[in-house]
Amino acid sequence: MKKLIAGNWKMNGSLAANEALLGALAQGLAVKPACEVAVCVPAPYLAQVQALKSAKPALSAIDLGAQDVSAQASGAYTGEVSAAMLKELGCRYAIVGHSERRQYHGESDALVADKARAALASGITPIVCVGETLAEREAGHTEEVVKRQLAAVIHANGHCISEIVVAYEPVWAIGTGKTASPEEAQAVHTVLRAQLKAATDQSARVKILYGGSMNAANAATLLAQPDIDGGLIGGASLKAADFLTIIAAAQ
Ligand code: PEP
Repeated sequence: MKKLIAGNWKMNGSLAANEALLGALAQGLAVKPACEVAVCVPAPYLAQVQALKSAKPALSAIDLGAQDVSAQASGAYTGEVSAAMLKELGCRYAIVGHSERRQYHGESDALVADKARAALASGITPIVCVGETLAEREAGHTEEVVKRQLAAVIHANGHCISEIVVAYEPVWAIGTGKTASPEEAQAVHTVLRAQLKAATDQSARVKILYGGSMNAANAATLLAQPDIDGGLIGGASLKAADFLTIIAAAQ
């Protein structure tokens, strides 16, 4: 399967900075990449990035994604953005269950599962993030935590489960400069792969990305692991040269 390199811009960017970053990516992607590429941008900039994609042919290689989606379809949910709205703005992906949302917004496994279901219902691929904290890893609970988080999404999404993307993001590696070693990441990906296999006979279609301080220097060795099907990239996705190097490493 083709690998997927997805940038998560988090709450960064401006109209000018986005245009400069995408301009540099367009130059770098003049030759079509071997992998799939996406950028998950702040909601206010989705329309801008969609317009830039229409204006610059090289950006057609980049799919658009959101960083969150409401579990609700419409109505009195102030501040929320529905999956149908994201679809209308050209999104292919929506991140759900990022650890920053679990941590700062109290998102539960059940809510993350509902968000994944709402995305799928509108034809958007949820990038479902799972991952353990440092305390959970040190207590030997990594496997139990990621399996619990993925089980909630599997339970709520039944036969659609082969349509998701999973991102293993150890919380202690996100934005810290500490990366899981390729072997540590592969070990967790093996667990997630087996769990998906037990849930659907279409599990071979499900990409499992690694995220957590992936950068231009470490991407190639992480992406060489048999069950690492791509990366979810935070900080390094804001620097065109670094993001392009990671894309080139994803053969
Ligand atoms: C992320 O935000 O999903 C992430 C992996 O961030 P970083 O690459 O900066 O660790």
